[in-house]
Amino acid sequence: KQFTVYVSPIAGQEEKSALAVITDVTRMHKLEQMRSEFVANVTHELKTPLTSISGSIELLKSADRDEETRRYFYDVLDIEAERLRRLIDDMLALSQIENAKEDPSVCPCDLEDELKKCIDRLLPVAEKNKIEVTLDADRSLFVSASPTRLQQLFGNLIENAIKYNKPDGSVTVTARRQKQTAIISVKDTGIGIAPEHFERLFERFYRVDASRSREIGGTGLGLSIVKHLAALYGGEVGVESEAGKGSNFIVRLPLLSVPKPEDG
Ligand code: ADP
Repeated sequence: KQFTVYVSPIAGQEEKSALAVITDVTRMHKLEQMRSEFVANVTHELKTPLTSISGSIELLKSADRDEETRRYFYDVLDIEAERLRRLIDDMLALSQIENAKEDPSVCPCDLEDELKKCIDRLLPVAEKNKIEVTLDADRSLFVSASPTRLQQLFGNLIENAIKYNKPDGSVTVTARRQKQTAIISVKDTGIGIAPEHFERLFERFYRVDASRSREIGGTGLGLSIVKHLAALYGGEVGVESEAGKGSNFIVRLPLLSVPKPEDG
């Protein structure tokens, strides 16, 4: 615990007594520490691609580069610019979601439809990585959410399950009704996560293997976005995993109660 102590004399009683104000500043210091850690992380994340971009431009400037070398550096520029774009998009999304108490653009969303759309959008990534993605969802599971945000939540989990997989691996997405809750699971046969990482896994910029994450174009913000979105819609996210065997990310979301058809 950290305190600040402020002592001042009391008018007319200077010799006998004084007023002391003790304030608990633990939370303030913690917030300040988190803020400066975030700024340090963002600075680092921005500097890495920028260094590559300026290096490539410098090398491209010299006239004696052959066509193949020039092409190589143009590709580097492309990849690093895309990395910056993803980082900025994810930071914007996170700042919008993080402090939101509610989402004004919610509507009833059918989980099967939204999960299907997510998987279709990610099929080119799955094919490129030789990963099979399957969906098995109960019918008529409706949740109250914004379709775009729901796509973002499950898109991040499914994309991770594809990217942190092994060659010829698979991803199984299931959605089940359990009383008034939808249980959505995104399970992969990939590299897995050792239990000591579970506690910090959903923190901004936390990565199990930073170089692997950067290599595959990760921003380190995906799971943090997932956690905040699940909370925004009254749910939660958890993980079960074993290093080397695969992971299972489980999201619980409250179901919208479907009105019963009128009798007669
Ligand atoms: P990133 O953009 O780095 O993927 P995330 O926030 O989405 O950031 O994930 C944080 C870290 O958690 C990743 O860097 C990776 O180390 C680990 N991770 C996430 N999903 C999986 C998964 N399905 N299998 C193994 N590791 C994972």
